[in-house]
Amino acid sequence: MEACNTVERELDKVLRKFEDINEKAGEVLSDLINQIETLKRELEEAPPEQELTPSQVQILKQAMKKVRDTVQDLATNHRESHNTVSKVGKAIDRNFIADFASTSREDVFNSAEKTHLLNQVICQHFYRQGMLDIADELAAETGIKTEEGRKEPFTELNYILDCLKQRNLEPALEWTYNHRDALRAQNSSLEFKLHRLQFIRLVEQGPSSQAEAVMYARKHLTQFVNRHEKEVQSLMGTLLYLPNGIQASPYSHLLDPTLWLDIHDVFTKEACTLLGLSVDSPLSVCVNAGCTALPALLNIKQVMQQRQVTGIWNGKDELPIEIDLGKQSRYHSVFACPILRQQSTENNPPMKLVCGHVISRDALNKLTNSNKNQFVSRLKCPYCPVEQNPEDARLIYF
Ligand SMILES: [Zn+2]
Repeated sequence: MEACNTVERELDKVLRKFEDINEKAGEVLSDLINQIETLKRELEEAPPEQELTPSQVQILKQAMKKVRDTVQDLATNHRESHNTVSKVGKAIDRNFIADFASTSREDVFNSAEKTHLLNQVICQHFYRQGMLDIADELAAETGIKTEEGRKEPFTELNYILDCLKQRNLEPALEWTYNHRDALRAQNSSLEFKLHRLQFIRLVEQGPSSQAEAVMYARKHLTQFVNRHEKEVQSLMGTLLYLPNGIQASPYSHLLDPTLWLDIHDVFTKEACTLLGLSVDSPLSVCVNAGCTALPALLNIKQVMQQRQVTGIWNGKDELPIEIDLGKQSRYHSVFACPILRQQSTENNPPMKLVCGHVISRDALNKLTNSNKNQFVSRLKCPYCPVEQNPEDARLIYF
């Protein structure tokens, strides 16, 4: 932030200078133009054969000199303003770090297989965003097959989402009919929410649509009475207020336009869950995480360079510090054994000792085996002095 402010201060200087120059130049130029115009008029008014008097020649010469001088002044000012502009460039160079290479690892994408995976993710991202022609082009140029880019589901989903944005519920409803069983299995309320919006839309039209609204409720809403009793009740309640309009009724909250934004999110979420896709594009999640982590990484890199311990970073497949990306970027907990310095796996899960300390099962076995020659196997926790029977350690599930 400080860097931005510093650059902004330089930028303000430039803008002030420009304004100054502009103002002054404007004044001087309009003065000159007036003067020349007057001279021109005088010359035109004089009879054609009349010769100039010496004093008139003098005035003309002075006017010409003034024009020349002013042009030169303006040119000098213009040149000077270049200096101020170039200071902004220098301020940017000084205040921002241009070289992020120090925080990345060159070997990450250096095999053909990894490059292919990267292209696949980028391609998928474009399909997700509905930028089909870019995605197709990328797929063609990098040799990605369509099924790898997973074009199909996104084409359909984007179409439905576009329709929802324009408050057209039909394609979304049709989609829910086609996937009804799967949606019910994941306890989805998408279909109900879509019908609710459609019903509210009918009710909004006033008494003229009453019969249609009642028909719609009978046909589509009765099936949800068990699961959404309260909501169906309030929807039916709106019918009482049809003559005077729902705006002034206790049900006015049903007209809230956020319901339309909400349906967009609900549809995206439910459809992605059903199709086994992540709700957010993996690429944008990675890029956002990278942007959040970058300042901290650049800082630590600087500290490491100052203390001349740069080699440490390159050694392992992990970051030198823990970076909190915020709640949104938390997907699943990971346990790293503090003794073996490895992430736990299904074969090597975390084990909680009696004292409350947690280590991986491999570490537990190693510690126990080193005490094998004793008659009863005892384990001394590596973190506190509690002695215990290793068999009392419990498996932990995250
Ligand atoms: Zn302990």
